[in-house]
Amino acid sequence: MSFKPISEIGEFGLIERLSRITAPSARQRPELLEGIGDDCAVWQLGESEVQVVTTDLLTEHVHFDLLTTPMRHLGSKAISVNVSDICAMNALPDYAVISIAIPPKMPVEMVEELYRGIEHAASVYGLAIAGGDTSSSPSGLFISVSMTGRTTPEQLALRKGASPGDLICVTGTLGGSCAGLHLLQRERATMIEQMRNNEPYNKEVMAELQEYAEAIRCHLLPEARIDIIDFFSEENIVPTAMIDISDGLVADLGHLGRRSGVGAHIDESKLPVMPEARTVAEEFQQDVFDWALSGGEDYQLLFTLPKSQYDLIAAHRDITVIGEITEKEEGMLLTDIFGMTIDLAEMKRGFDHFAG
Ligand code: ADP
Ligand code: MG
Repeated sequence: MSFKPISEIGEFGLIERLSRITAPSARQRPELLEGIGDDCAVWQLGESEVQVVTTDLLTEHVHFDLLTTPMRHLGSKAISVNVSDICAMNALPDYAVISIAIPPKMPVEMVEELYRGIEHAASVYGLAIAGGDTSSSPSGLFISVSMTGRTTPEQLALRKGASPGDLICVTGTLGGSCAGLHLLQRERATMIEQMRNNEPYNKEVMAELQEYAEAIRCHLLPEARIDIIDFFSEENIVPTAMIDISDGLVADLGHLGRRSGVGAHIDESKLPVMPEARTVAEEFQQDVFDWALSGGEDYQLLFTLPKSQYDLIAAHRDITVIGEITEKEEGMLLTDIFGMTIDLAEMKRGFDHFAG
């Protein structure tokens, strides 16, 4: 047997191979409507309801850095990223269980702060924390949240279901989380430098962080778009397909396109770029459109809707139409701000845990 490094197939190649191993058990349960491959697994709960289930693992040094992340924010984010996956199914959350692996030196008060953030977010989203598991960790903090939610079979929205001609819509703004991450990483480098030199902490850095509070908030305290799910319900809107933007717009549009068996054409000039992210990108001499397209962690919803339903969303000031679904053969295209059309398959992809 030869051994292959995971980086050769990437995170999604690995999941695909693992899903082949687990396919037989999934086939044993006919009420399972969606297994591996969507934002949540879905199973039938009686005639008129479906349950959706998701899980997300936050790993210290991979997803967060304790030098720049307050524990309370981290707790809230751990809940929000799961609620975001529930929303991506056009469902509402109901219960969560939480597992933590803690380095033994971490004080009780820090873990309590984490849970105050968890509890705050749970109250805001109206879900109950119903259990979990606790372990020690030889290296770093791990937080795993699993969450259930519900919707009706009629309202359920999957990654598959988009058809050529559908409008591609996105909620909120993009690029903010990536801008916040850049600011926090710079702050972290400054803090480490000052600690090395035994200097007192430089308040000027903090002042600058306050100037960019919105971008930093976007990164540390993203909010799941449960308000959009309520809006869909009030207006009787059911997206033909939906995904949340966690890996980056291009990557997540790719997931939606592949599952739906369609292509897409988006217009860079229509992207709702967060204004503050533009200023931060200028400061870092980076292209803010790269951040909006590939930055990830914005936790906005990306969904498709038949053109005939445009009037239903036209007046919503937090929903932007950024393009149109096309035939699969046309691939994934972007017309950039200069009017050039680019193949998105050749662009830098979104986040992959094992990308080489
Ligand atoms: P999201 O970004 O929406 O949380 P992921 O990219 O993490 O989704 O996962 C994509 C799909 O792969 C989901 O359906 C998820 O349940 C499944 N998946 C991811 N990792 C594993 C794993 N280790 N075992 C089984 N299924 C997995
Ligand atoms: Mg998702």
